[in-house]
Amino acid sequence: MIVIDKAVKSFIKKINDLSTHSKLVIFAAIVTVIFTLICLLSSGINFSYNVVYGGKVVAQVSDTAVYEQALANAADSIVCDGSSADVLSDAKIKPIITTKNTSSSADELTSIILKNSERVKQGYIVKVDGKDALYLSSCEDVNKALDTRLNMYNKKDKSCESKFANEITVTKAYFDKVSLSTSDEMQSYVNSLDVVTVVTDTESKKIPYDTVVKRSSSKKAGYTLVTTKGVEGVKQLNKQLTLLNGKVTDEKILSEKVVSNPVNEVVVVGTATSSKGSSNKYASSGKFVYPADKNAYLTITSYWGDGRNHKAIDIAGAIGTKIFASLSGTVTYAGYMSDYGYNVVVDHGNGMSTRYAHCSKLYVKSGEKVSAGQTIALMGNTGNSTGPHLHFEVILNGTRVDPAPYLGLY
Ligand SMILES: [Zn+2]
Repeated sequence: MIVIDKAVKSFIKKINDLSTHSKLVIFAAIVTVIFTLICLLSSGINFSYNVVYGGKVVAQVSDTAVYEQALANAADSIVCDGSSADVLSDAKIKPIITTKNTSSSADELTSIILKNSERVKQGYIVKVDGKDALYLSSCEDVNKALDTRLNMYNKKDKSCESKFANEITVTKAYFDKVSLSTSDEMQSYVNSLDVVTVVTDTESKKIPYDTVVKRSSSKKAGYTLVTTKGVEGVKQLNKQLTLLNGKVTDEKILSEKVVSNPVNEVVVVGTATSSKGSSNKYASSGKFVYPADKNAYLTITSYWGDGRNHKAIDIAGAIGTKIFASLSGTVTYAGYMSDYGYNVVVDHGNGMSTRYAHCSKLYVKSGEKVSAGQTIALMGNTGNSTGPHLHFEVILNGTRVDPAPYLGLY
């Protein structure tokens, strides 16, 4: 304080020693400087900075913090093999006094620096679940490739929506010394991405009818008459299918509507005992479905009785010939027995059932409902059998009866 005080006192003394003319000159100079400063400030003078990059002024900023922020942003935006710092090492700022107020924001300066770089190339990063997957130069190609991939699984006639199983994002980026993928490489990469498609669809499904067997003691065994023809019902299912790359992984029934109910088939069967081999005037002409595939070569090798108390008929054919349920009903047995081998018993209700024996393969399980004509097994040679054939029995109230009349064989 003492030093300043002394200096001020010596300055005032020096001024006082000057001539009046000199005092006036100094006063005029001070007034001129102050006036000039007021003029400059009122006309919009700014203390600012020029940003120099690649040897030329690329922008102006009002604050060094904006410049620092822009450099940091630019460094983060550059995808490169090593450090992004050397790409930006050429950037500098120079203080200036200017009347022009054209300061850039940090974001604007970031893109100005990146665009003015001779080294970095603008492009796009494709990220899968947040991880860099692909570097590309064109964004149009990416969207085209992604759309092409999704459209592989969109069906025009159905209501469906496809999306990628993973989250795919495409962001703008700058690259330094990084090779970018070609459009072919990109398409083949995109084609390896998993696509989930959800399809909603309606489907008509048949409802099988039941066969009601009515026994008539006034009609001879072998008599069969369909008094009411069975009619299948129809239901409409509203389904939602989930597919992964076109393959169904989940199926959900959203709603079900019965369009028409099935009509049960009613079959009257005779139960009065008929003598062996007698002509049965009530014998039908095949109301039962013939239990083996007639397209295969078939021979009836044994009828009812047949001199060995054979209570069935044998239909010989090749192993693998289809065996059909003669009437609709419920499977009460499907398995292996030492005599019958693999065999199936179907209960048709009202005391009537049928057995299919010596099979090579069974297609049904006990408790399952089957319809007339449904393939339930394949012909074989299992159990006590001397060659491939179907041993077919008709059982009325626990007693085996001659199947031939029911099949319209006599
Ligand atoms: Zn037999």
